[in-house]
Amino acid sequence: MPLYLYQAKDKKKSCAYCRKEFQILQKANDKSLSQCPRCGAPIQKIFAPFSSGHSKTGLDRRAKDKGFHKLKKVDKGKYEKLY
Ligand SMILES: [Zn+2]
Repeated sequence: MPLYLYQAKDKKKSCAYCRKEFQILQKANDKSLSQCPRCGAPIQKIFAPFSSGHSKTGLDRRAKDKGFHKLKKVDKGKYEKLY
């Protein structure tokens, strides 16, 4: 399941959760979120891993080399950060 990064569009209206970028796991065919799940502030997707082809991280390259198209799960509930 891809991991998406979101961030509040207007940081003045955001909560502590969405003021910084946060990660949400979504199915590939889920539609993008437009509101913070905690405070309802408008949010925007700032990174779509792997499917976009824009990532130049080492993780991305390693994953592609191995034919993976998902983030590496490094611990229970934790995923290796892309940036
Ligand atoms: Zn929020």
